[in-house]
Amino acid sequence: MFDPVAFRLERKAAELIERARRFGQTALAPRAARHDRDATFPIESFRDMHPEGLLAICVPEADGGLGASYRTYCLAAAELGRYCGATALSWNMHVCSTLWTGALADELMMTVEERAEHNERRRLHYKRIVGDGAIYSQPFSEGGAAAAGTVAFGTEARPVEGGFRVSGKKIFASLSGAADYYGILCTERGQGEQVSRRNTLYLAIPANAEGVSVVGDWDPLGMRATVSRTLLLNDVFVPEDEMLMPRGVYFRAATCWPHMFLTLSPTYMGLGQAAYDFTVRYLRGELPGTPPVKRRMYPTKQIAVADMRVTLEQTKALWFQAISEARANPTKEQVLRAYAAQYTVMENANALAAKAIRTCGGQAMLKNLSLERIYRDSRCGSLMLPWTAEICLDRIGRESLYEAGETDA
Ligand SMILES: Cc1cc2nc3c(=O)[nH]c(=O)nc-3n(C[C@H](O)[C@H](O)[C@H](O)COP(=O)(O)OP(=O)(O)OC[C@H]3O[C@@H](n4cnc5c(N)ncnc54)[C@H](O)[C@@H]3O)c2cc1C
Repeated sequence: MFDPVAFRLERKAAELIERARRFGQTALAPRAARHDRDATFPIESFRDMHPEGLLAICVPEADGGLGASYRTYCLAAAELGRYCGATALSWNMHVCSTLWTGALADELMMTVEERAEHNERRRLHYKRIVGDGAIYSQPFSEGGAAAAGTVAFGTEARPVEGGFRVSGKKIFASLSGAADYYGILCTERGQGEQVSRRNTLYLAIPANAEGVSVVGDWDPLGMRATVSRTLLLNDVFVPEDEMLMPRGVYFRAATCWPHMFLTLSPTYMGLGQAAYDFTVRYLRGELPGTPPVKRRMYPTKQIAVADMRVTLEQTKALWFQAISEARANPTKEQVLRAYAAQYTVMENANALAAKAIRTCGGQAMLKNLSLERIYRDSRCGSLMLPWTAEICLDRIGRESLYEAGETDA
């Protein structure tokens, strides 16, 4: 998708992205339709990721991982999204547990004590992933305003001897029933304390801990293989060592490293590319599983493909710029660009898929081909909190017109 020479990618990045592409083509593409149809989790693909090193793509090299940067991860994830959107989205939840605690946390201000505590604790998680192929997920959403980042999480952690007692409910918990650890966000609250977003804790809860259960069914429009059912936490004891970040550090990350919320976009960048790739192959009569009928000679098809190509190039250019400038304490311009990139990728992925269906025609949207799945999966992008398409527009408008602290009073 992003030619290493044209986009000036360093050798290591190009190698990891190529590895992801190969994995997507050989492991994900052949399994995608079955898991989509049955709404089942592609656990065998996650098992296959372990020997490929892909579960540890963002684990630092010193801890046995591949040490991918934020940008390299995004580019690799887009390649997976091209072959199975749902697997790429689930992989994102897993990888972010290591990216946020790894390269991202390395750029955050921490005291010497916090840094030492963090480095020691994250080693525990990395060891599980590198050594045992453990799978982590990120169920943050609760159905209220917390996932949008405006109020404290309703899931609460009560400090007790040696750890916490955690109770709450997480909706849309991708990898539910498949993950070994649920990386949840919750609010630490001692006796008589007020809730505050500053007291957000990021904890890894073992899936087999007493009090953890997965409930409800899962029969959505798209992203069916993410199996995002509801996670219930009922007075679950979580040892202190399961903290994925020291106290207060998640709040700091969310404030200082906003691009951490752009990591859902690579999946959809890949889906947009997949819709375009499908269209070109189909119109050329070269799509496996379809008769070799050429449809490329009609001027309307050529115009539609040109239009898709322009949209795709615009999307890729903005997105590549945004993922390239992710860092701690970005400028206001960089943050606005990140919102614009998220909005553009999420909206354009689905627009490209819709255009692909209209252009390729009726036979192209039959369920034995991937396009209708791409269309349904891409529809989900603009719904993902905290940066839904609506929230991105709200913020771009407001923050373009007002400087921090400005009012009209
Ligand atoms: C396939 C799929 C997989 C998912 N996987 C995960 C996962 O693994 N982990 C996880 O934590 N979540 C996950 N989510 C959940 C997702 O991020 C959202 O939390 C969920 O879709 C929100 O549900 P809702 O639209 O009902 O939210 P609501 O809170 O009802 O919001 C509805 C809409 O209102 C708008 N809105 C909400 N709050 C504000 C605000 N403060 N300001 C302005 N507008 C606002 C938004 O545009 C939003 O789309 C997943 C969602 C999908 C579709």
